[in-house]
Amino acid sequence: MSKSIQSVRGMNDILPTQTPYWQAVEKTIRRVFESYGYQEIRTPILEKTELFSRSIGEVTDIVEKEMFTFIDRAEEGDSDVESLSLRPENTASCVRAGIEHSLFYGQTPRLWYNGAMFRHEKPQKGRYRQFHQLGAEAYGIASADIDAELIIMSARCFKALGLTDLTLQLNSLGSAEARSAYRERLINYFSAHQAQLDEDSQRRLHTNPLRILDSKNTEMQPLIQNAPKLIDHLDTDSTTHFEQLKQRLDLANIKYQINPRLVRGLDYYNRTVFEWVTTALGSQGTVCAGGRYDSLVEQIGGRATPAIGFAMGLERLLMLVEKNGFIPDNANPDVYLVMMGQAAMENGIRFAEQLRDHLPQLHLLAHCGGGNFKKQFERADKSGAKIALVLGDDEVAQQQVTVKYLRDERPQATFAQAELADHLRTLL
Ligand code: ATP
Ligand code: MG
Repeated sequence: MSKSIQSVRGMNDILPTQTPYWQAVEKTIRRVFESYGYQEIRTPILEKTELFSRSIGEVTDIVEKEMFTFIDRAEEGDSDVESLSLRPENTASCVRAGIEHSLFYGQTPRLWYNGAMFRHEKPQKGRYRQFHQLGAEAYGIASADIDAELIIMSARCFKALGLTDLTLQLNSLGSAEARSAYRERLINYFSAHQAQLDEDSQRRLHTNPLRILDSKNTEMQPLIQNAPKLIDHLDTDSTTHFEQLKQRLDLANIKYQINPRLVRGLDYYNRTVFEWVTTALGSQGTVCAGGRYDSLVEQIGGRATPAIGFAMGLERLLMLVEKNGFIPDNANPDVYLVMMGQAAMENGIRFAEQLRDHLPQLHLLAHCGGGNFKKQFERADKSGAKIALVLGDDEVAQQQVTVKYLRDERPQATFAQAELADHLRTLL
């Protein structure tokens, strides 16, 4: 026997026992997004590396060490090789696509997406190398009403999923000018305590000092706690914007905590940033994160276009939903068709097709592969179906079918085939 091949580390199979949960969560969120008029966009999984280094930022965890990057072979007659990367997130791709297809000019598109993202991280619970994000992005609107809409929409998603123990953390990063003045303040502060900085933070001190605030190193937390706060040094317009957002969230009865340490791990954010967090998943507690990125479209080569978006981590959401005891309703077939005898096996497929014509919603699993009564019933039971339909040669001759209830104490009954659809409709 040859050696079996395993999946790539940190990349998971989602098995048939799991997919009903995924489908239910995806459907719920998609319906919420659509109820706000957001439209789906699908972009490629592979992009030019430069798209991510230019948008997310050179001095970020993602670009420094988390991307799956490779050099593509040169095309014939083309001497340039090209660096490509699996997307680590989808905002940059949405911006790239929007510019490329002129979605932003004279329009204010509101988009959503669902897809696999890739980051070369240390795999652990809630952290994988291939994971999935459902996200939304809104373009061309600078005012705080759209910030409020997106946050309220995310809250509605969690409510629809039955998740009630999530906390909304909110901060404002202000304007680029306010941030650069604050940057100097931070460098001064951390320089005065250089000995307490870990290696990553030493390195970031002059390249990206805001990211030090995002450090997960517990030993550095007291130093970070006492650092000057950006929210105390915002520009006037950003302060007004933030006040307007908070007012709208208050009116919508959305609770939030102001977290002055919330800076987000990507460079492109300004003004509003937010995260939905839970204490139920250990240190992988952020299930949704987002913010405003008003300069990104221009930075990627488009016309200046304000923008804001968020992304939810599906794996983390699913862990919460399952923890809550959620049971998806589409996990098992409704009925299993058992066929005994030559005539039944010949007519079974036609019979199943007729039923599917009448009941398109019905999940009907038809037995294949023959076998005796016992074997077919074992399969029926294992399938999780609520009902077995039995087609024997007698039934075929009399155009009938016998219904056996697999999960209820209830006597079996025989129906005319023509009446079965109506009967099943009342049962399912
Ligand atoms: P973290 O601080 O947990 O590393 P992040 O700031 O890198 O998160 P974002 O880039 O903002 O995360 O992505 C948004 C969401 O995507 C996260 O809140 C999380 O739910 C999910 N996510 C990010 N990275 C992973 C991963 N490697 N595996 C699973 N989910 C992830
Ligand atoms: Mg991360």
